[in-house]
Amino acid sequence: MNKESQNEEYFRKCEAIVSAYKRLDCIGLNRGASGNISIKTNNGFLITPSGVNVEKMCLNDVVELNFEGVPLKGTNPSSEWRLHAEIYKRKKGVGAVVHTHSNFACALSSLRQNLPAFHYMVAVGGGRDIRCCEYAIFGSKDLADKVVEALEGRTACLMANHGLVCCGKELDHAIFLAEELEALCKQYLTARSIGGVKILSDSEMELVIEKFKNYGYAIQK
Ligand code: 13P
Ligand code: ZN
Repeated sequence: MNKESQNEEYFRKCEAIVSAYKRLDCIGLNRGASGNISIKTNNGFLITPSGVNVEKMCLNDVVELNFEGVPLKGTNPSSEWRLHAEIYKRKKGVGAVVHTHSNFACALSSLRQNLPAFHYMVAVGGGRDIRCCEYAIFGSKDLADKVVEALEGRTACLMANHGLVCCGKELDHAIFLAEELEALCKQYLTARSIGGVKILSDSEMELVIEKFKNYGYAIQK
């Protein structure tokens, strides 16, 4: 790739990050300066800035880091850069990571419980449940490690008393997963508040996971 197309690619990725961050705000999955988004690059990853309100965020705010957190461009990376870096370093095939403080994910994460197979769509996260990792303070390596552990064999997880994390080959898929997980958390908490939720069995979920291997939106593009 020549210098000019490298620059175009870089610019396109910065645009994708900012517009995805604004979209999360529009659809009610984030607000203010909460949450963060990253996309992998040749040298590391691009990530949203820290503490910048969605209404003020622009392309120049996006920061590029290498996987050790050394800035390649920009100076104010998200406080969760370790979480994003550890996912790229330790999970094969991930090209984008999305973290939100969406309402129902936060509510369920405060129960510190996994999201069980109350609905077959739970399998979009790659398994028969969506795990909730243990609590650790935001921005810490400890939190990054706990998230990577909860993502073992999965593309989505909850973070205790905090929110959700989703990852995909492409940013579109990670955003799709975040929307889906938030909807699932809402549905599950609603059903739980009534009581008597029936959970699909492991064998029922195995069939769904198998079927999802060839099923439209569930496939990572
Ligand atoms: P940043 O603004 O530093 O990305 O922090 C938001 C967040 O979600 C921390 O967990
Ligand atoms: Zn957060």
